[in-house]
Amino acid sequence: MRMIFIGPPGAGKGTQAARLVERYAIPHISTGDMFRAAVKAGTPMGKAAAECMNKGELVGDDIVIGMVRERIAQDDAKDGFLLDGFPRTVPQAEALKSALVTDGLSLDAVLLLEVPDQLIVDRITGRRSDPETGAIYHLTFSPPPAEVADRLVHRKDDTEEACRSRLDAYHSQTAPLVPFYEAEGLLKRVDGVGKPDDVTGRIVTVLG
Ligand code: ADP
Ligand code: ADP
Repeated sequence: MRMIFIGPPGAGKGTQAARLVERYAIPHISTGDMFRAAVKAGTPMGKAAAECMNKGELVGDDIVIGMVRERIAQDDAKDGFLLDGFPRTVPQAEALKSALVTDGLSLDAVLLLEVPDQLIVDRITGRRSDPETGAIYHLTFSPPPAEVADRLVHRKDDTEEACRSRLDAYHSQTAPLVPFYEAEGLLKRVDGVGKPDDVTGRIVTVLG
């Protein structure tokens, strides 16, 4: 199964992806996680990406496309993957399509997780993640257990200001992927409002 997840920042893609990759036994490929690892490691790519990320802007297509091409060519992604946070622009979607076509492959589904803008700021500003396990929490909606609370991190770009820029980037640069994948007959819309378990149920239903 080759799937991609699109949706505004904070829609719940990471939360749902962690559940889906277990269910479908495919690797979770998050470009945001890959960039954060590069920033932490201080690589040249990480340094270039950090500036865009902190402002809530997208990293350049060439950098992202190269990174994803390398990642999906790895052994564990041979039989499928769940791409989370990629593609985010039409040129990225076109590059993914041509990389797959070259290998005689294609996507099986594009999940669009829909959450209205007015719910996004609360989801983003309350997000905390566990650097040891990768688990995603929310101070109000998914409170962390007391024993991990001290080590949780608040992403630098999870401020209200950066969140607004990320939403603008989503609407102007990523939303055009909706008609792109609709035309390909791949788009599956999922309502992302409600309890995470209910959202997972909706995704499993649309995937059949
Ligand atoms: P979100 O929680 O907004 O969905 P991610 O963790 O997916 O965020 O991404 C964090 C940041 O990493 C983005 O705001 C952007 O700067 C950068 N980034 C991640 N994926 C991409 C991509 N496909 N294209 C460009 N920039 C990206
Ligand atoms: P994304 O990967 O799309 O940026 P996340 O999965 O990191 O989104 O979720 C963003 C924040 O919203 C996290 O703090 C997460 O705990 C919370 N969250 C995820 N799903 C839901 C939901 N269905 N209802 C309320 N909060 C949610």
